[in-house]
Amino acid sequence: MQYREQPYPGDVTFSWTRHESDGRVLLEASGQCPVCGCAMSHTFTHGQSAIPKGGGFLGRREDPGSGVWQTRCRCDSYHFPRPAEATDGCGAWLRLADPPAAITTPDGGS
Ligand SMILES: [Zn+2]
Ligand SMILES: [Zn+2]
Repeated sequence: MQYREQPYPGDVTFSWTRHESDGRVLLEASGQCPVCGCAMSHTFTHGQSAIPKGGGFLGRREDPGSGVWQTRCRCDSYHFPRPAEATDGCGAWLRLADPPAAITTPDGGS
């Protein structure tokens, strides 16, 4: 399996886990990259910071917005030839199927 930057056609179904850290919700998607077959995971930051607006802490949201969950392959394998700016993965861009509502809804499941 060689490193190759390419979008993967179609949605990829990963399993989702919800974490909360400092009032922020982190959504971790983990599964198997359909291109190289390695296990990988990626954490998305979802929702608003619990720190009030104007509190001097500009949000570090990485919410991809509009329901698009996209990540580069993040597997730990070394796929050759990998460009210097890439730190992990096989180069595939994956569009993940939406997480279940219980994962994304604030206070869901608690
Ligand atoms: Zn991969
Ligand atoms: Zn891989």
